[in-house]
Amino acid sequence: MSMPPPAPAPAPALLRTRRALAEALAFVLPVSCAGCGLPDVSLCDVCRSSLAPTPLRGDLDGVPVHSGLVFDDVAARVIRALKEDGRTGLARDLAPAFAAAAAASVPDVTLAPIPTSRASFRRRGYRVVELVARRAGLPTARLFRYVRQPRDQRGLDATDRRRNVEGSLAVTRVPTGRVVVVDDVMTTGATLSEAVRALRAVGVDVAGAVTIAATPRRADKDRRQR
Ligand SMILES: [Zn+2]
Repeated sequence: MSMPPPAPAPAPALLRTRRALAEALAFVLPVSCAGCGLPDVSLCDVCRSSLAPTPLRGDLDGVPVHSGLVFDDVAARVIRALKEDGRTGLARDLAPAFAAAAAASVPDVTLAPIPTSRASFRRRGYRVVELVARRAGLPTARLFRYVRQPRDQRGLDATDRRRNVEGSLAVTRVPTGRVVVVDDVMTTGATLSEAVRALRAVGVDVAGAVTIAATPRRADKDRRQR
């Protein structure tokens, strides 16, 4: 008796097909507001208004971190819907928050996203922060690769997160000028820290970091520090 062969990774064409199919289905299947569940809208007006940027500033390894939203309530549900439910249309609704955070950061820099893991890209078919940055009209440059794939950060405390990502990133291309690291959500900052470390290791001048949102605990702490 022969075992069935393992399922191959989906080819890019298949990912495109899957994405196109998901977008087509969105027109015929019932949608509900990603923020509050109101039927028949992808995002209701009330929830959209609660995604108006509320820029936050934090500090990480000596560089400023700017975020456009506090990661709770509506913002958290919308970002999760974009990340986990394939609702790519929501990238447009998150773009103003990302743009505001980037505007508060340093101008004339290279925006370098934290890379999407191969597993996440295979699951989603898109890169979250790159998609939002594109909707915000901000070009990004892929400068990193994983030299080691960290395990899922969920459920890890700050110390374990830092240990989990330490030494996981390498810089594949050194740009001219300063770099700002970008990511979707800052939780403990462990991943951003690792990116800053990797850039500095090859002599890059890191000007800061920008995220769509930051977790409230982090935001509160930063507010107190101001
Ligand atoms: Zn709503």
